[in-house]
Amino acid sequence: MKLTVLGSGTSVPHPSRTSAAFFLETSGGSLLIDCAPTAPSRMAAEGCDWAGLDAVWISHFHADHATGLAPLLFAMKHAKETRDRTHSLRIFGGSGLRRFIETMDDAGGYRMLEQHFPVEVIEVEPYIEFYPINGATANAIPVPHRTESLALHIRDASSTLVYTGDTGFHKPLSAFANSVDLFVLECSFVKDKAVDRHLELAEAMYLVRSSRPKRAMLTHLYPEWDAVDLKQEAARYEPPCEIIEAVDGLRVEF
Ligand SMILES: [Zn+2]
Ligand SMILES: [Zn+2]
Repeated sequence: MKLTVLGSGTSVPHPSRTSAAFFLETSGGSLLIDCAPTAPSRMAAEGCDWAGLDAVWISHFHADHATGLAPLLFAMKHAKETRDRTHSLRIFGGSGLRRFIETMDDAGGYRMLEQHFPVEVIEVEPYIEFYPINGATANAIPVPHRTESLALHIRDASSTLVYTGDTGFHKPLSAFANSVDLFVLECSFVKDKAVDRHLELAEAMYLVRSSRPKRAMLTHLYPEWDAVDLKQEAARYEPPCEIIEAVDGLRVEF
């Protein structure tokens, strides 16, 4: 698998970190993991094949993770890059996904689910396997952030990845991410977090230490991280693996 960080930031405007989005490539297809409003242009900037995208995962419906579906689907409907496209686009997320998309659709009058190729909206049941792209198996567990929030586990023949999305501290994530090749965690705050439903470094590092992944990537970094050496701070927790700071444009193969 290859993961391109499209957006390592939050909803707070930042000069070098855009909002949450990752482009995952496997031998069986591509998956956009979260779709920030900046995601469509970030895919173009990174040379990711947005027009051929196979599937999208939406962790929850906050604007910095999901509202890019409107410009993405609008572009796919009208851009010359998708004119010859025939294969379906499958959009996965938690309960209420269809209503979320239809609400944006109604507001803009886009009719964005009416494309010249099939578009499927699939509301995932937690704990039940699903198949987002060819050759890959996934499942999801609820995490404490929004009622529809889900963490994603995806594996193909060679690799495994877990993506927390936004979450408060949640011990079941340790077992969920046990020994995965890449554990992508939100780490919104350095310490003394102001809100319960995000992680700070000590909590993220607890989850890394207890799940023992091959590598861990910290993302969803608020601007307060600008003043901090993330790797140095993380090293104080003696992590069992390499800790990667998500940076827009970073590519990781695993
Ligand atoms: Zn967020
Ligand atoms: Zn959120």
